Amino acid sequence: MSLAARFKLHLQCENCRRTRAVILDVPEADDAPRDVDELMDSAFLQQQRFDCLVCESGIGTIVGVNRLALEVAA
Ligand SMILES: [Zn+2]
Repeated sequence: MSLAARFKLHLQCENCRRTRAVILDVPEADDAPRDVDELMDSAFLQQQRFDCLVCESGIGTIVGVNRLALEVAA
């Protein structure tokens, strides 16, 4: 599977306020988000589910997004 982009999301639980970082790999597709602005507007992001590991709340807020470099195969 080739990737269009890779992001690191920083999510804060609405319930217990703990934050966690998750790596989000975006599969290659015509409408795949390739930068942070596109990601924030994307249906792909809407489909992501948040589950707090601490309190099991399903509601999270995105507090930060970084775009990561894709590793290039040697
Ligand atoms: Zn929580």
